[in-house]
Amino acid sequence: MKPEIKDQLRAIVGEANFSDKLIDLVSYSSDASQHLHRPEAAVWATTAEQVQAIVRLANQEAFPVTVRGAGTGLSGLSVPAQGGLVLDLSRMDQILDISITDRAVVVQPGVIYADLDNALAPHGYFFPPDPGSSKVCTLGGNVATNAGGVKGAKYGTTRDYVLGLTVVLGDGSIMRTGNRAMKSVSGFDLVRLFVGSEGVLGIVTEIILKINPKPRATATTLAVFDDLEDAGRAVSGVMAGGVVPSVLEILGRETLKAINQNTELNLPEADAMLLAETDGYTQGEADYQMERVVEQFTAHHAREVKQAESAAQAAELWKARKSCVPVLARLRPSFILEDITVPISQVAPTLRGVQDIAARHQVQIATFGHAGDGNLHPQIIYDAADHDESERVEAAVHDLFQLAVDLGGTLTGEHGIGLSKAPYMEMEHDPAAMKLMRSIKRVCDPNNILNPGKMALDG
Ligand SMILES: Cc1cc2nc3c(=O)[nH]c(=O)nc-3n(C[C@H](O)[C@H](O)[C@H](O)COP(=O)(O)OP(=O)(O)OC[C@H]3O[C@@H](n4cnc5c(N)ncnc54)[C@H](O)[C@@H]3O)c2cc1C
Repeated sequence: MKPEIKDQLRAIVGEANFSDKLIDLVSYSSDASQHLHRPEAAVWATTAEQVQAIVRLANQEAFPVTVRGAGTGLSGLSVPAQGGLVLDLSRMDQILDISITDRAVVVQPGVIYADLDNALAPHGYFFPPDPGSSKVCTLGGNVATNAGGVKGAKYGTTRDYVLGLTVVLGDGSIMRTGNRAMKSVSGFDLVRLFVGSEGVLGIVTEIILKINPKPRATATTLAVFDDLEDAGRAVSGVMAGGVVPSVLEILGRETLKAINQNTELNLPEADAMLLAETDGYTQGEADYQMERVVEQFTAHHAREVKQAESAAQAAELWKARKSCVPVLARLRPSFILEDITVPISQVAPTLRGVQDIAARHQVQIATFGHAGDGNLHPQIIYDAADHDESERVEAAVHDLFQLAVDLGGTLTGEHGIGLSKAPYMEMEHDPAAMKLMRSIKRVCDPNNILNPGKMALDG
């Protein structure tokens, strides 16, 4: 990047919000995936006008701009694949309005998920998507990745809560779309187009989100299965059983073993464990739903069903679920965490298919995930320095995606395409859909300056 361009960037954001120091550029070379690429400069923007001026400059001088929230993406999303500028929005972190009457909040993109949740708690409200990274990830990142979490089975994902957006498009124009109204059929749904667009179409500078009243009561239960497919069938049974649990998570044998090796939680050794939570506005409501869930666990041959008797016991169970990624990551030097998602009827065949893939390619795959919405996390643990093993892992990843698509599902339920899954986009999307996505990219970002190299859109 030419020194004159750096001077112009300094003029836009101020000296304190510009850096080309090695330490910052190295920090901005990665996200939570294994992809690495160094930018040439980084800026912290604090207003939409600054973002607009930067995008205009990038068009004029032809340099790439990669937007970044907290950098917790798991697919190389905010890694600047073609260098250029990293535009960090974490300093645009104001909650601008909370309106309980409108059931809406207005936020800047750099607000951290947990900060919004804390601000809503005194009102008895919450913002449901709840990703595992909630203590650090930003709402702008959540919108750009359509983030979801453990409560997806009942409450859906970020997409279900975004009412309106202000976006700086790739050509430098500012677009406001959507509003605080709870419904609208006015024109194309541009809000939905931008949710999950991974910073390739525009830069979100303001967000209107719908919020929900927080349930006051919960019930939590674990069920142990000696057969993985029985657990998968129990998931389908629960979801078809007339109630919707707020959480329905699965932990496979390898995952349970790793948790026991690394914690004091002393979970049962079995082929699978299901963790369920129901919620409601009275304890009776939560308990009634849990009784229906337990009926399905029993009908599908659970060896043991145990209800948490106190909030502390329930918290222990959630601690087990939350520890999955770190305890598995400790087993080998490298890991890849996938998030294939299938129709709920296909959870059991998917679990079996993952085991077959692990055996076929002789790789270690531990599975856990948000089974209640068909979103599974096969975590491949290996040594990236071992060339032979890495080739087998690559083949296994390909087969995992093929499995999900063949069963009527998708490559990614929450972590996005980014760099990791770009080579597989055409496995899921037909030529007409790919052509339309590439056309939309060209219309919104004619000079391909926003997050280039991602989502297989450059062709
Ligand atoms: C331990 C751990 C647990 C996780 N658990 C979950 C989970 O349960 N569910 C889930 O969905 N994800 C999960 N993730 C992945 C990640 O946290 C989410 O994808 C999150 O939404 C990313 O937010 P971020 O602020 O870190 O965004 P970043 O990683 O900085 O960016 C993500 C993408 O969004 C784009 N972007 C960011 N801000 C904007 C903006 N304002 N305008 C336009 N584009 C923008 C970036 O360019 C990039 O493409 C997890 C990650 C980790 C490390």
